[in-house]
Amino acid sequence: MTTVGCIGGGQLGRMLGLAGIPLGLSFRFLDPAADACAREVGELVVAAYDDPEGLARLARDADVVTFEFENVPVEAAREIGTLPGAASLEEGQDRLREKELFRSLGIPTARFGTLEETGLPAIVKTRRLGYDGKGQRRVTDRDAALADGELAEEVVEFDRELSIVGVRARAGEMRFWPVGENVHREGILRVTRAPAVDAPQAEAEAFCAAVMDALGHVGVLAVELFQVGDRLLANELAPRVHNTGHWTIDGNETSQFENHLRAILGLPLGPTGAGAPCVMVNLIGAAPPLAALLALPGARVHLYGKEPRPGRKVGHVTLVDPDDATVERLLALAG
Ligand code: AMP
Repeated sequence: MTTVGCIGGGQLGRMLGLAGIPLGLSFRFLDPAADACAREVGELVVAAYDDPEGLARLARDADVVTFEFENVPVEAAREIGTLPGAASLEEGQDRLREKELFRSLGIPTARFGTLEETGLPAIVKTRRLGYDGKGQRRVTDRDAALADGELAEEVVEFDRELSIVGVRARAGEMRFWPVGENVHREGILRVTRAPAVDAPQAEAEAFCAAVMDALGHVGVLAVELFQVGDRLLANELAPRVHNTGHWTIDGNETSQFENHLRAILGLPLGPTGAGAPCVMVNLIGAAPPLAALLALPGARVHLYGKEPRPGRKVGHVTLVDPDDATVERLLALAG
């Protein structure tokens, strides 16, 4: 049996498992939390991400080791050999390096660097370990200063937020899903609509392709974008399956999870072309009652089996080709 090891046992790991089980794959996850939600779809090794013994147990007999979380120690990933490789992880976990990579590839970004370089107002972010809007503050004060490990960014008055999710195979072949339009609240993704209306698909694909090629990336990679008029700015990259690609489970011929597994295992990639319009809504904090979600016509419900907690992603619902009234009902339920 082919075994996939995965550093991280959260919902992304769980959905990788759910995509791989029909292909006959088995899964082992490494996570410090004994109740990590991927434990339902594979063996769970409970240990710190950099615990040598835990990593050795994860990698033992595994045909490939991947990660679902980019804040994994690079050395640990290098030691056991992951796909995507350590280079993807290294760039993806440092916001400054990410932006320098975009710049070196000719991909436009908001101004970034010191507060002098960005001007005010600025958004100050921690370079490392920030996610879902954590580790961010808006600065308007002329006397403000950056702390160690912080990066300033110009505040972008964007028209909308978009993202592109792509996959690159071992031999370099690439596929891309239709660009999604994303709405965040308090830095946390709430809604993705895909395909985004009038999306700059070719330009977004070119950005994503340049990044994946530069990193020699194998697997799925997402780039978050701001659209300002007809300009596209890259905000962030994620060298892994991504929340803005969850709609592909129900709304595309091949999901991001399945294609990630296909890529890292050296299997042929599946098609990713446009299908019906989808709306994906995250369930944050606590999930509404399952019966209420299932009563929505056509709702594809994904609950992650996580305990409720403020700001925590506990599930998502995708509607494929919905009418406006159903979308409104779902948004009202999700709160
Ligand atoms: P990030 O952690 O960089 O993905 O930021 C989370 C969210 O905060 C983004 O999706 C935007 O909604 C907002 N945001 C981040 N950076 C900026 C920026 N430079 N200008 C305006 N909004 C931003």
